[in-house]
Amino acid sequence: MGTAATQLVEAQSFDTLALHAGTVADPTTGALLTPIYQTTTYRQEAVGKDKGFTYSRSANPTVSALERRLAALEGADYCTCYATGLAATTVLCLALLRAGDHVVASQAVYGGTVRLFKQVLEPFGVTADFVDTADEAALREAVNSKPTRFVFIETPANPTLKLTDIEIAAKIAHEAGALLVVDNTLLTPALQRPFELQADVVLHSTTKFIEGHNATVGGALITRNPELHERFSFTRNAIGAIQSPFPAWLTIQGVKTVGLRMAQHSANALQIARFLETHPRITKLLYPGLESFPQFELARKQQRAGGALIAFEIEGGVDAGIRLMNSVQLCALAENLGSAETLITHPASMTHADVPATQRQAAGITDGLVRLSVGLENPIDIIRDLSQALEGGE
Ligand code: PLP
Repeated sequence: MGTAATQLVEAQSFDTLALHAGTVADPTTGALLTPIYQTTTYRQEAVGKDKGFTYSRSANPTVSALERRLAALEGADYCTCYATGLAATTVLCLALLRAGDHVVASQAVYGGTVRLFKQVLEPFGVTADFVDTADEAALREAVNSKPTRFVFIETPANPTLKLTDIEIAAKIAHEAGALLVVDNTLLTPALQRPFELQADVVLHSTTKFIEGHNATVGGALITRNPELHERFSFTRNAIGAIQSPFPAWLTIQGVKTVGLRMAQHSANALQIARFLETHPRITKLLYPGLESFPQFELARKQQRAGGALIAFEIEGGVDAGIRLMNSVQLCALAENLGSAETLITHPASMTHADVPATQRQAAGITDGLVRLSVGLENPIDIIRDLSQALEGGE
């Protein structure tokens, strides 16, 4: 028999866990929310005798509360949180890779992930091959071309929304003795459950839908494997990449509504995608929730809904795209995704500017591609805004 709190956690219902998992009740005041433990250090009872916290670079109670919640939401046991999503990717790499090691990653991934592998890690002797991980044969060939430490997939990929079959990628990685890491930032565990499809590590930029309100930057590494968790914790402490208590606290508040938000983001995005699909000036439209999406069946198999992101091209190419982005009034031209506010981005000049042009082209990140991260406004207002901007862009 557990306490009422542990019985609640054992109920395993996603929306309930989002509200309650990992909460630390304040024993002195009864405060309902986990406090912000804004402290550097912790008084120790005697030499070698502490309450589990010694210094906030190693661990902090507010951050630990967020970690317990995120692990519970992904259906895993362990989580470590970081200052940013890229700090999480950095710790993943420093914990698992040594000079001479090889990684295979999705061709279309967040531009900062490419920059990290190519410009920071390659000089240390790590090689990364970016391949079309949706192509089973290409993935198998890349994984078997050299001893591979891990396969890193982002599905849907930012910004092309190309999907990778997580179960197949896990099988190919595992047969070659490699781990499968899934960047689940674009869907969150509300819409996609990589551990149920045999992933070994899930990565998040919590900056996006997990926190969801454009208020923080943060990252997370989640796993069911205690040894991997131990290595991530060690490396995080060794390089000093932990998240601070205040953004962790804001993320605890944001993640409470992740289930509701992801459902509404997806419903809004579907409505907007249907509008754009029939608009005469849109020449290409990609949204995983639309029947016309090339991998619609895979989206139905491994996602609970289409998510918030739409990618499209408009007639008139780059110039028309730039005019559109300069003409929107309600949608914000900004470098982020995953917030309550609708954001519009030009990946080639913004989020993916550091990705070599040849890799951008191979991954389908054309110069005219526009990325829309649909927020929680009434979708009719977003449609009106896009309509007027599309008229103005002619
Ligand atoms: N993963 C994905 C899919 C992203 O879109 C981003 C950022 O845009 C990151 C990781 C990196 O996260 P952060 O910006 O929090 O460092």
